[in-house]
Amino acid sequence: MDKNIAIKLTKLSELQETDTHLNDIVKLRGTLPEEVYALEIHIKNLSETIQEREMVLTNLREEVVSKKAFIKQAEKKLQQYEAQQMEVRNNREYDAITKELELHKLDIQLAEKALHTAYGNIEQEQSNLEGLHKLLESKEADLVLKNEELQVILQASEAEESALHKKRQEIIAMLGEPLYLAYERIRKNVPNNLAVVPIKKGACGGCCIVIPPQQKIGVYERNKIVLCEHCGRMLIALEQPIDALLFVS
Ligand SMILES: [Zn+2]
Repeated sequence: MDKNIAIKLTKLSELQETDTHLNDIVKLRGTLPEEVYALEIHIKNLSETIQEREMVLTNLREEVVSKKAFIKQAEKKLQQYEAQQMEVRNNREYDAITKELELHKLDIQLAEKALHTAYGNIEQEQSNLEGLHKLLESKEADLVLKNEELQVILQASEAEESALHKKRQEIIAMLGEPLYLAYERIRKNVPNNLAVVPIKKGACGGCCIVIPPQQKIGVYERNKIVLCEHCGRMLIALEQPIDALLFVS
């Protein structure tokens, strides 16, 4: 047995335990963190939509003001032309003014039509905005509740979590960077996030495939770090190492 390797194997096993514990704490939070995040995104999008619709509403109101001013102006001109029409000297002048009058009347009609459409759109936008504001309020209330719930859970595990992180840092310092990085690489690539597994009943504790005898000896001897040939996890000996060694000799 290489004492240095044996210590590192123990530390690897402790690191795995610590990480599994941290994972369990995160799992306890369930989908709450994702729900809070999704609500925040929804609220942000809703607020942007409301801003856009409010801009449309402002433009519509400006259109109403400008159309009203246009109609007022056109009606004034209409009155002027009507007054002029009373004082014409010949048919040619009369016809010219009549034509102007008709054009102005048409302009007024078109402006009134646009005004009517704008009023309808304003009503529609106001009703949409009312619905959007109500939805935003309810989502904001949901977020407050969910955030409170999440804070309670986070606070409950805060001390435990920080102790685990501290322990983790101590272990990593003892392991050294190359071994730690190898551990992390394996952990990220395996489905259950277990990079260090014991041999259980002669099989890898990660993938359950039987370990060849020669490799098993290597694990029990603790002279080097042995990886499962099938899944690549680091193997450690937990069960009856003495018997196994006796069996080997
Ligand atoms: Zn395996």
